[in-house]
Amino acid sequence: TQWVYNFGAGRNEGRADMRNLLGGKGANLAEMAGIGLPVPPGFTITTELCTEFYRNDRTYPADLKPQVDAALALIEEAVGLRFGDGEKPLLVSVRSGARVSMPGMMDTVLNLGLNDETVQGLERSSGDPRFAWDSYRRFIQMYGSVVLGVSHHRFEEIIEDIKTEMNVLEDTALSAESWAHVVESYKDLVARETGKPFPQSPEDQLWGAIGAVFGSWMNPRANTYRRLHDIPADWGTAVNVQAMVFGNMGEDCATGVCFTRDPSTGENVFYGEYLVNAQGEDVVAGIRTPQPMSEARAKEGELSMERALPEAYRELLTVRDTLERHYRDMQDIEFTVQKNKLYMLQTRSGKRTAAASLRIAIEMAQEGRISHEEAIQRIQPSSLDQLLHPTLDPKAERVILARGLPASPGAAGGVIVFSADEVEARAARGEDTILVRIETSPEDVHGMHAARGVLTTRGGMTSHAAVVARGMGRACVAGCGGIRVDYAAQTLSAGNRTLKAGDWITLDGSTGEVFAGKVATIQPTLSGDFSTLMGWADSVRRLKVRANAETPEDAAMASKFGAEGIGLCRTEHMFFAPERIGAVRQMIMAENEAARRRALDTLLPFQREDFAALFRIMGDRPVTIRLLDPPLHEFLPHTEAELEELAREMGETLEAVKERHAALSESNPMLGHRGCRLGITFPEIYAMQARAIFEAAVLVGSETGRPVTPEIMIPLVGSEHELRVTRAEVEAVARDIVDKGGVAVDYTVGTMIELPRAALTADRIGEHADFFSFGTNDLTQTTFGLSRDDAGSFLPHYIEKGLLPRDPFVTIDREGVGALVRIAAEKSRAVRPGIKLGICGEHGGDPSSIEFCEQVGLDYVSCSPFRVPIARLAAAQAAL
Ligand code: ADP
Ligand code: MG
Ligand code: MG
Repeated sequence: TQWVYNFGAGRNEGRADMRNLLGGKGANLAEMAGIGLPVPPGFTITTELCTEFYRNDRTYPADLKPQVDAALALIEEAVGLRFGDGEKPLLVSVRSGARVSMPGMMDTVLNLGLNDETVQGLERSSGDPRFAWDSYRRFIQMYGSVVLGVSHHRFEEIIEDIKTEMNVLEDTALSAESWAHVVESYKDLVARETGKPFPQSPEDQLWGAIGAVFGSWMNPRANTYRRLHDIPADWGTAVNVQAMVFGNMGEDCATGVCFTRDPSTGENVFYGEYLVNAQGEDVVAGIRTPQPMSEARAKEGELSMERALPEAYRELLTVRDTLERHYRDMQDIEFTVQKNKLYMLQTRSGKRTAAASLRIAIEMAQEGRISHEEAIQRIQPSSLDQLLHPTLDPKAERVILARGLPASPGAAGGVIVFSADEVEARAARGEDTILVRIETSPEDVHGMHAARGVLTTRGGMTSHAAVVARGMGRACVAGCGGIRVDYAAQTLSAGNRTLKAGDWITLDGSTGEVFAGKVATIQPTLSGDFSTLMGWADSVRRLKVRANAETPEDAAMASKFGAEGIGLCRTEHMFFAPERIGAVRQMIMAENEAARRRALDTLLPFQREDFAALFRIMGDRPVTIRLLDPPLHEFLPHTEAELEELAREMGETLEAVKERHAALSESNPMLGHRGCRLGITFPEIYAMQARAIFEAAVLVGSETGRPVTPEIMIPLVGSEHELRVTRAEVEAVARDIVDKGGVAVDYTVGTMIELPRAALTADRIGEHADFFSFGTNDLTQTTFGLSRDDAGSFLPHYIEKGLLPRDPFVTIDREGVGALVRIAAEKSRAVRPGIKLGICGEHGGDPSSIEFCEQVGLDYVSCSPFRVPIARLAAAQAAL
């Protein structure tokens, strides 16, 4: 078996795409050498050897050593030095390198091969005693701590002592004699701590370091990291052995780390730090202050590399360009300059912020380095979230109060308010508020809308608060168990702190953090890059993207983000407004049809205005309006006072109202009197809503001269008959109004598919439907037999134990719920080829679910306004 792959030295056996075998570092060192960049020669021992090592009780196969010896000989030949030679010693670094960069692995050991004899050879061959002894002490220090396990600070203490003794501040000011002195103390320390003298044989040193790298693969830190990041243990790590180059040989030497573009803004500037006369991790160790790369970025008193080492800097600029052209991405690189000669020691694609990621992708496409399609593929749709919401100013000071779930992204601050009504009142006066509730219910929605953000102490990522806040684009921290809310006292407390209603708090819905007081925020800018990307995405996607919206504000927001219609306008929230809820309650509690009609007559003008406002914003884009859906009890009065008021308004006795109230209560409202069942038992309700829709459509159509396109959606249909009957009612109203209105209205009638039976009988239901909208929230609940509101107590456990791959309310369950969607799509198209199919659950804004929708060939997805850009990008990626 080939366990060892050479790079740089005469023979170059690796490539970037061999990352699994050679680890990321080894593969890229070989790739860089392969394209002619100056890489010190070396070799990589494969990750397969690591696996073999553990399979055989931590022993090496017999054919490893000859391969290592041969590879070492190649390096010796390439650089003209010999490992362990007393005159011209070869020194090497030993570096770990897994497939993905992994904290917890062994730190790099530099200058390996030095001993009491070779250090003198190095001294003579370099003519620089200070450098030779500094290198030797560095080696003992690294090898001693990393391989032999002697505590790092014991070495540092020795240096501190000698600095005090010699009265110098910086390490670089110590002389060769001082370093020789340090070496003696180090060796004593190692002997004392390990009971053995420091290994003098370079060969022993090498195998000791190799063993330590492989051993570190199974150390507790690495194990924990792997578990947290789902990295399989059998991936293994590689070991890289590489000829040393020296950045610590004087003022014409340096070492540095940099990014080929600014990783926080994406700006196309060389970004990084370097240190003159330094080695390895000195730049990040914080012993000396690193200096900037380019003169343009140098502040007063700083010495840029451009000025200090102009020759090497120019070479590095060329390398930067070569690397970007070759890898076609922003790179994170490590380099060393030895006597003005540049050497590359590492490259990998650089980590970056969402904003930088966007800018880099766009600019690289504009520079012709990548195609538009690649630029589209490079941006994680969910990362756009960071760009669409306000964020906390990273420089702002903050006092953390507690931490909950990051339920809806964005940062928001305001005064603490405990009731939705008060939020609304304060918001009307222009105050910023945060609605704080133990949990929220549909009655809080108007307050959530008026608030800057929402904080709950109970509930999960799919709790009412989380779902509604995400839909509205309000920041929300949910399930913040560390906070106790006392409604009566109007206080919230966390630990030993107590805040009162009216005190200011700040939420970060992207992290789940809650802060006492004001923390400055930064507003998002939908910059040129953002709209450029959206334009490219729009030109390749097939799926249309609509928004779930019911208020004019939501619709306007959705339009701004590029929604091509409204895919779900729920009508129930419209009923909770204070001036309407009375009439709604009367409608529900009415003794007879006449009384119900009276209440409905009151509601009609409100509804008409609701719809007219939406139509005005959406113009000729389709608006899907779902007729009343929720269980009626959600509208019922709860308190004695509310019951009394209702009785007074209705002119009935309290007893009569209470009796009716009791009769309406259900033991399982989710599966009770709701959806089209309401429309069937109380046809007047749907008739009123249909009337409001058509009257508004005629009105707006005549205002604009362009036909409005309402799509009337009947909820919770389980059989064709339910749709047949309710559709007939809607059409009767349409005949009455549209035919007389004298203005064209392009209306259609369809249904939501949210019950398994509906999906399975989609061919029959399809006979009566112009469109289907998959209501995958309810479809997930009804398919799993799982209540979303109650799943918080066990679903996380299922996911943790691997019984479910993901939260099915976030990402569609393709096997079960997805199969029903597929069946319904096929069956309905068989009877009605052009039937319009869409999805309007939370899944409509989830990239993986959108990919599924593309595969099934749906016509559109609909999601909350703030997710529209995410959906546009995800739809484009799904189409590529
Ligand atoms: P990490 O994965 O923690 O970045 P590396 O293996 O990249 O560890 O090593 C850290 C640093 O050690 C490198 O950035 C480089 O400065 C230095 N280094 C590694 N190998 C060599 C070498 N052959 N010559 C000079 N310096 C080296
Ligand atoms: Mg490191
Ligand atoms: Mg590195």
